[in-house]
Amino acid sequence: MEQAFKALDYLKQQTCSALFSPFVPRIRAFDKENLINVESDNFCIPETRLVLKNELPFETGSVFQKKILNLANWDSKIETDFLKNKRSSGHFLAETIHELMHSVYIKLIYTKYGYGGKCPYTNSLYPCSNSNKSGLDVMYELQNKNFSKEENLTINYVLGNYATKPRNQYHEVFAETFTKLICDSLSDDAMPKANPLDGLKRLPPEFLKILYKVLNI
Ligand SMILES: [Zn+2]
Repeated sequence: MEQAFKALDYLKQQTCSALFSPFVPRIRAFDKENLINVESDNFCIPETRLVLKNELPFETGSVFQKKILNLANWDSKIETDFLKNKRSSGHFLAETIHELMHSVYIKLIYTKYGYGGKCPYTNSLYPCSNSNKSGLDVMYELQNKNFSKEENLTINYVLGNYATKPRNQYHEVFAETFTKLICDSLSDDAMPKANPLDGLKRLPPEFLKILYKVLNI
């Protein structure tokens, strides 16, 4: 996690892009037996809620990651998923950066629409403007907003099949795209070696149209 932040910090300085400053109120490594109603090993919460036993609710945008007990296993699972065309990067930081990119997308939505949910902390950061839609309304709308069959062929080709799944697809396409761009610009030991945004030039035009939709929600 620390390495992912270090890489993002460096990229932020180099590119001055808000993409590399995620909105993460809290980050927690967890033991699976402490989780309440979650199956994933890594996740970012879209709304404030209880996550861990014996703890208060966590703010929307917080990121959770299962404690890594065996780094080699962790690394090889990410690599295998990439080789099977499931995920957009095989870099060992890919899972972590993916979750941080979810928090970036949530920030993008709240910055545009305001938050409008029950978390006082997030409401103070992103007050709702007088528009009739709140950021949280947009989050609900996006839960079931999908791409067409043809667009999914392109997504599968560029990002792998994880980002073609229908649930929260806009969120997943955003997270997988920027995970790929960032991880492709890092060396194996996570030192930044290029501007990740240059990677946009290497993406097919039909994919850029999809990304345009994701960014203009
Ligand atoms: Zn995700």
